[in-house]
Amino acid sequence: MTIISDSLQAIQANILRAKEGVNRQDDVKLLAVSKAQSAEQLREAYLAGQSAFGESYLQEAIHKQALLEDCNIEWHFIGPIQSNKTQLIAQNFDWVHSIDRLKVAQRLASARANTSPPLNICIQYNSSDEPSKSGVQTQALENLANEITKLPNLKLRGLMAIPAPTTELAKQRMQFKTVKEAFTRLQQSGFNIDTLSIGMSDDYVAAIQEGATIVRIGSAIFGARTKLKNDG
Ligand SMILES: *Cc1c(COP(=O)(O)O)cnc(C)c1O
Repeated sequence: MTIISDSLQAIQANILRAKEGVNRQDDVKLLAVSKAQSAEQLREAYLAGQSAFGESYLQEAIHKQALLEDCNIEWHFIGPIQSNKTQLIAQNFDWVHSIDRLKVAQRLASARANTSPPLNICIQYNSSDEPSKSGVQTQALENLANEITKLPNLKLRGLMAIPAPTTELAKQRMQFKTVKEAFTRLQQSGFNIDTLSIGMSDDYVAAIQEGATIVRIGSAIFGARTKLKNDG
Protein backbone atom coordinates (compact mmCIF):
# COMPACT_ATOMS: atom_id res chain seq x y z
CA MET A 1 0.00 0.00 0.00
CA THR A 2 1.12 3.53 -0.72
CA ILE A 3 1.51 6.26 1.88
CA ILE A 4 -1.42 8.29 0.55
CA SER A 5 -3.79 5.36 0.76
CA ASP A 6 -2.53 4.59 4.28
CA SER A 7 -3.21 8.18 5.34
CA LEU A 8 -6.67 8.16 3.80
CA GLN A 9 -7.51 4.96 5.63
CA ALA A 10 -6.24 6.29 8.94
CA ILE A 11 -8.21 9.51 8.55
CA GLN A 12 -11.41 7.67 7.63
CA ALA A 13 -10.95 5.56 10.77
CA ASN A 14 -10.47 8.72 12.86
CA ILE A 15 -13.58 10.27 11.32
CA LEU A 16 -15.59 7.17 12.20
CA ARG A 17 -14.25 7.16 15.75
CA ALA A 18 -14.97 10.87 16.22
CA LYS A 19 -18.54 10.35 14.99
CA GLU A 20 -19.06 7.37 17.27
CA GLY A 21 -17.76 9.38 20.21
CA VAL A 22 -20.65 11.81 19.87
CA ASN A 23 -23.21 9.30 18.56
CA ARG A 24 -23.45 10.73 15.08
CA GLN A 25 -24.90 8.53 12.34
CA ASP A 26 -24.92 11.09 9.52
CA ASP A 27 -22.20 11.36 6.88
CA VAL A 28 -19.00 13.35 7.19
CA LYS A 29 -17.44 13.95 3.79
CA LEU A 30 -13.68 13.90 3.54
CA LEU A 31 -12.50 16.65 1.18
CA ALA A 32 -8.88 16.04 0.15
CA VAL A 33 -7.24 19.45 -0.03
CA SER A 34 -4.81 19.01 -2.88
CA LYS A 35 -3.43 22.52 -3.42
CA ALA A 36 0.29 22.45 -4.20
CA GLN A 37 0.12 18.68 -4.80
CA SER A 38 0.82 17.14 -8.19
CA ALA A 39 -1.77 15.55 -10.47
CA GLU A 40 0.00 12.22 -9.87
CA GLN A 41 -0.63 12.54 -6.13
CA LEU A 42 -4.29 13.33 -6.73
CA ARG A 43 -4.57 10.32 -9.01
CA GLU A 44 -3.01 8.14 -6.34
CA ALA A 45 -5.59 9.34 -3.82
CA TYR A 46 -8.35 8.87 -6.39
CA LEU A 47 -7.29 5.31 -7.06
CA ALA A 48 -7.38 4.72 -3.30
CA GLY A 49 -11.07 5.70 -3.34
CA GLN A 50 -10.97 9.46 -2.69
CA SER A 51 -13.31 11.36 -5.01
CA ALA A 52 -13.70 14.91 -3.63
CA PHE A 53 -10.78 17.30 -3.97
CA GLY A 54 -10.36 20.89 -2.78
CA GLU A 55 -8.19 23.45 -4.55
CA SER A 56 -7.24 27.05 -3.66
CA TYR A 57 -5.33 28.28 -6.70
CA LEU A 58 -7.33 28.49 -9.89
CA GLN A 59 -4.69 28.11 -12.62
CA GLU A 60 -3.04 25.23 -10.81
CA ALA A 61 -6.42 23.55 -10.35
CA ILE A 62 -7.45 23.92 -14.01
CA HIS A 63 -4.12 22.45 -15.09
CA LYS A 64 -4.61 19.38 -12.88
CA GLN A 65 -8.26 19.01 -13.90
CA ALA A 66 -7.14 18.63 -17.52
CA LEU A 67 -4.65 15.92 -16.52
CA LEU A 68 -7.32 14.08 -14.53
CA GLU A 69 -10.15 14.38 -17.04
CA ASP A 70 -10.62 10.61 -17.08
CA CYS A 71 -11.39 10.57 -13.32
CA ASN A 72 -14.85 11.17 -11.88
CA ILE A 73 -13.81 13.84 -9.39
CA GLU A 74 -16.00 16.27 -7.44
CA TRP A 75 -14.09 19.57 -7.45
CA HIS A 76 -14.36 22.10 -4.61
CA PHE A 77 -12.91 25.60 -4.76
CA ILE A 78 -11.84 26.70 -1.27
CA GLY A 79 -9.47 29.63 -1.85
CA PRO A 80 -9.93 33.41 -1.86
CA ILE A 81 -11.85 34.54 -4.96
CA GLN A 82 -11.00 37.55 -7.09
CA SER A 83 -13.89 38.76 -9.23
CA ASN A 84 -11.99 38.16 -12.46
CA LYS A 85 -11.73 34.43 -11.63
CA THR A 86 -15.44 33.76 -11.25
CA GLN A 87 -16.06 32.65 -14.84
CA LEU A 88 -13.54 29.80 -14.72
CA ILE A 89 -14.57 28.80 -11.22
CA ALA A 90 -18.24 28.62 -12.24
CA GLN A 91 -17.36 26.48 -15.24
CA ASN A 92 -14.92 24.07 -13.63
CA PHE A 93 -16.06 23.36 -10.07
CA ASP A 94 -18.97 21.64 -8.34
CA TRP A 95 -18.66 23.47 -5.03
CA VAL A 96 -17.36 26.84 -3.83
CA HIS A 97 -16.70 27.17 -0.08
CA SER A 98 -15.25 30.66 0.08
CA ILE A 99 -18.03 33.11 -0.77
CA ASP A 100 -17.51 36.26 1.26
CA ARG A 101 -19.45 38.87 -0.72
CA LEU A 102 -22.52 39.17 -2.88
CA LYS A 103 -20.69 40.41 -5.95
CA VAL A 104 -18.76 37.14 -6.25
CA ALA A 105 -21.94 35.10 -5.86
CA GLN A 106 -23.68 37.20 -8.52
CA ARG A 107 -20.82 36.72 -10.95
CA LEU A 108 -20.74 32.96 -10.31
CA ALA A 109 -24.49 32.78 -10.86
CA SER A 110 -24.32 34.49 -14.22
CA ALA A 111 -21.30 32.47 -15.36
CA ARG A 112 -22.75 29.09 -14.38
CA ALA A 113 -24.40 27.38 -17.34
CA ASN A 114 -28.17 26.89 -17.01
CA THR A 115 -27.63 23.37 -18.30
CA SER A 116 -25.23 22.44 -15.47
CA PRO A 117 -26.38 21.36 -12.02
CA PRO A 118 -26.45 24.32 -9.61
CA LEU A 119 -23.09 25.30 -8.15
CA ASN A 120 -23.03 24.33 -4.46
CA ILE A 121 -22.20 27.33 -2.29
CA CYS A 122 -20.91 27.80 1.24
CA ILE A 123 -20.55 31.23 2.79
CA GLN A 124 -17.19 31.72 4.48
CA TYR A 125 -18.02 32.75 8.03
CA ASN A 126 -15.65 34.92 10.07
CA SER A 127 -16.66 33.33 13.34
CA SER A 128 -14.39 35.50 15.49
CA ASP A 129 -15.91 38.67 13.95
CA GLU A 130 -12.42 40.17 13.71
CA PRO A 131 -12.34 42.67 10.84
CA SER A 132 -8.81 41.57 9.92
CA LYS A 133 -9.98 38.01 9.17
CA SER A 134 -11.57 36.96 5.91
CA GLY A 135 -15.16 35.91 5.75
CA VAL A 136 -18.54 37.34 6.61
CA GLN A 137 -19.21 38.57 10.12
CA THR A 138 -22.17 37.38 12.16
CA GLN A 139 -24.45 40.35 11.64
CA ALA A 140 -24.12 40.19 7.84
CA LEU A 141 -24.59 36.44 7.48
CA GLU A 142 -28.35 36.20 7.17
CA ASN A 143 -28.62 39.00 4.63
CA LEU A 144 -25.97 37.47 2.37
CA ALA A 145 -27.60 34.03 2.69
CA ASN A 146 -30.90 35.59 1.69
CA GLU A 147 -29.44 37.32 -1.37
CA ILE A 148 -27.68 34.14 -2.51
CA THR A 149 -30.86 32.08 -2.39
CA LYS A 150 -32.41 34.52 -4.89
CA LEU A 151 -29.67 33.90 -7.48
CA PRO A 152 -30.11 31.40 -10.32
CA ASN A 153 -27.74 28.45 -10.87
CA LEU A 154 -26.48 28.46 -7.27
CA LYS A 155 -27.52 26.32 -4.35
CA LEU A 156 -26.72 27.62 -0.89
CA ARG A 157 -25.54 24.60 1.12
CA GLY A 158 -24.15 26.12 4.31
CA LEU A 159 -21.14 27.64 6.00
CA MET A 160 -17.38 27.26 5.81
CA ALA A 161 -15.06 28.58 8.51
CA ILE A 162 -11.37 28.59 9.36
CA PRO A 163 -11.06 29.40 13.07
CA ALA A 164 -7.72 30.45 14.53
CA PRO A 165 -5.36 27.47 14.80
CA THR A 166 -4.86 26.15 18.31
CA THR A 167 -3.63 22.82 19.65
CA GLU A 168 -6.04 22.93 22.60
CA LEU A 169 -8.96 20.60 21.94
CA ALA A 170 -11.31 22.52 24.23
CA LYS A 171 -10.55 25.79 22.45
CA GLN A 172 -10.94 24.12 19.04
CA ARG A 173 -14.36 22.84 20.07
CA MET A 174 -15.43 26.22 21.42
CA GLN A 175 -14.56 27.93 18.15
CA PHE A 176 -16.37 25.33 16.07
CA LYS A 177 -19.37 25.56 18.38
CA THR A 178 -19.71 29.24 17.45
CA VAL A 179 -19.84 28.25 13.78
CA LYS A 180 -22.40 25.53 14.43
CA GLU A 181 -24.58 28.00 16.33
CA ALA A 182 -24.59 30.43 13.41
CA PHE A 183 -25.44 27.51 11.10
CA THR A 184 -28.35 26.47 13.33
CA ARG A 185 -29.64 30.06 13.49
CA LEU A 186 -29.77 30.16 9.69
CA GLN A 187 -31.66 26.88 9.63
CA GLN A 188 -34.08 28.24 12.20
CA SER A 189 -34.59 31.33 10.02
CA GLY A 190 -35.79 28.96 7.32
CA PHE A 191 -32.72 28.40 5.15
CA ASN A 192 -32.63 24.88 3.77
CA ILE A 193 -28.92 24.23 4.39
CA ASP A 194 -27.12 21.00 5.24
CA THR A 195 -23.37 21.68 5.07
CA LEU A 196 -20.94 22.71 7.76
CA SER A 197 -17.46 22.83 6.22
CA ILE A 198 -15.13 22.99 9.23
CA GLY A 199 -12.02 21.11 10.34
CA MET A 200 -8.55 20.72 8.83
CA SER A 201 -5.62 18.36 9.47
CA ASP A 202 -4.99 19.57 13.01
CA ASP A 203 -8.53 20.04 14.27
CA TYR A 204 -10.92 17.82 12.33
CA VAL A 205 -11.76 15.61 15.29
CA ALA A 206 -13.02 18.61 17.26
CA ALA A 207 -14.90 19.83 14.19
CA ILE A 208 -16.69 16.50 13.82
CA GLN A 209 -17.57 16.54 17.51
CA GLU A 210 -19.24 19.92 16.89
CA GLY A 211 -21.11 18.86 13.77
CA ALA A 212 -18.84 19.19 10.71
CA THR A 213 -20.37 17.60 7.61
CA ILE A 214 -17.30 18.28 5.44
CA VAL A 215 -13.73 18.21 6.76
CA ARG A 216 -11.07 19.77 4.52
CA ILE A 217 -7.82 17.87 4.98
CA GLY A 218 -4.57 18.44 3.14
CA SER A 219 -1.27 17.81 4.87
CA ALA A 220 -2.52 14.82 6.88
CA ILE A 221 -3.20 13.06 3.56
CA PHE A 222 -0.40 14.25 1.29
CA GLY A 223 2.27 15.36 3.75
CA ALA A 224 3.55 18.88 4.27
CA ARG A 225 3.19 21.20 1.29
CA THR A 226 6.67 22.05 0.06
CA LYS A 227 5.76 24.97 -2.18
CA LEU A 228 3.02 27.48 -1.80
CA LYS A 229 1.86 28.32 -5.26
CA ASN A 230 0.76 31.75 -6.21
CA ASP A 231 -0.64 31.62 -9.68
CA GLY A 232 -1.95 35.18 -9.83
C1 LIG B 1 -4.98 24.49 2.89
C2 LIG B 1 -6.39 24.50 3.38
C3 LIG B 1 -6.93 23.41 4.10
C4 LIG B 1 -6.11 22.18 4.47
O1 LIG B 1 -5.15 22.48 5.43
P1 LIG B 1 -4.31 21.30 6.13
O2 LIG B 1 -3.85 21.90 7.39
O3 LIG B 1 -3.21 20.96 5.19
O4 LIG B 1 -5.23 20.16 6.33
C5 LIG B 1 -8.25 23.47 4.47
N1 LIG B 1 -9.02 24.53 4.17
C6 LIG B 1 -8.56 25.59 3.49
C7 LIG B 1 -9.47 26.72 3.20
C8 LIG B 1 -7.23 25.61 3.08
O5 LIG B 1 -6.77 26.68 2.42
